[in-house]
Amino acid sequence: MIIVMEAGATEEQLKEVVNRIQELGYTPHIIRGETRNVVGAIGDEREKTRLQYMEALPGVERVLPILRPYKLASIEVKDERAGERTIVEVAPGVSFGGRKVTVIAGPCSVETKDVMLEAARAIKAAGASVLRGGAYKPRTSPYSFQGLEEEGLKILAEAREETGLPVVSEVVNPEDVDLVAEYCDMLQVGARNVQNFALLKRLGSVKNPILLKRGMMTNIEEFLMSAEYILSAGNTKVVLCERGIRTFETATRNTLDISAVPVLQEKTHLPIIVDPSHASGAWQYVKALSCASVAAGADGLMVEVHPNPERAWCDGPQSLKPTKFAELMKDLGRFADAAGRSV
Ligand code: PEP
Ligand code: MN
Repeated sequence: MIIVMEAGATEEQLKEVVNRIQELGYTPHIIRGETRNVVGAIGDEREKTRLQYMEALPGVERVLPILRPYKLASIEVKDERAGERTIVEVAPGVSFGGRKVTVIAGPCSVETKDVMLEAARAIKAAGASVLRGGAYKPRTSPYSFQGLEEEGLKILAEAREETGLPVVSEVVNPEDVDLVAEYCDMLQVGARNVQNFALLKRLGSVKNPILLKRGMMTNIEEFLMSAEYILSAGNTKVVLCERGIRTFETATRNTLDISAVPVLQEKTHLPIIVDPSHASGAWQYVKALSCASVAAGADGLMVEVHPNPERAWCDGPQSLKPTKFAELMKDLGRFADAAGRSV
């Protein structure tokens, strides 16, 4: 259930609502909005009639059931009429969900300091706002490069120091969450871990925003339930990422589910970005898919860029050279314009 507060409700009235929710055995989650606040009451839905009585409390506008299985992720907790959506800030001046299309770029994995710095300088010059690089790589084969781990996180932090770009990196194991959170601005959950519920719950207790990638085999509802795990564990800063799903088609590594962008926008207030690199697996298609994603309303992109793709330790065939990435960023402007956004 959600308790919608009146526009002019006081903090005292909000506190009273929170206390009553707790007394009734539910967990309250305050979701602050521009026009009014709402409080999610999460718990046993069979007891919901008792929550309904809260409509009588001062400052309460109405009490609404959320019919979808995901609650805090649902668009219903925001003021839809006001077009309210969540904006997730990653660093001062860098956020997802506003007017700007925010671009994350960088190599698949952290390799050497030199490669990372070269990539970081190039993506910054082209207009990207966040640097990526995996230090923990969940590889299909146990014989493939598994990542530099803490050494890689240190390199990422150095690249941030030099360029001022915030950094995002994947965390695979719940035990590594604190370490990755120490070095990185944003933590990534990869496609293969989207239903690693122990990891998702653990990420609920960090302050860093989370980039949650859709699994290649998860449908939209399952994807949103994964976001719900993080939100309900206390972290409201979740950005969703469509990265292609597995279909019968083999011409591309995965099939970009472009419809996920408007479908998710209808169902959730969370920002949605697209990763055209893992979706296609081939650099030649990355520009077209990026432009299509922005035209469809994506709040951002995640693009793999490597100074020497042919020498990359991981995902070279889908990585753009810096010159190609700069071209992409330039061309993206027109699509962002058409979608009422800026790059
Ligand atoms: C990545 O972004 O580094 C990655 C491994 O992607 P995915 O989890 O989407 O396969
Ligand atoms: Mn990759």
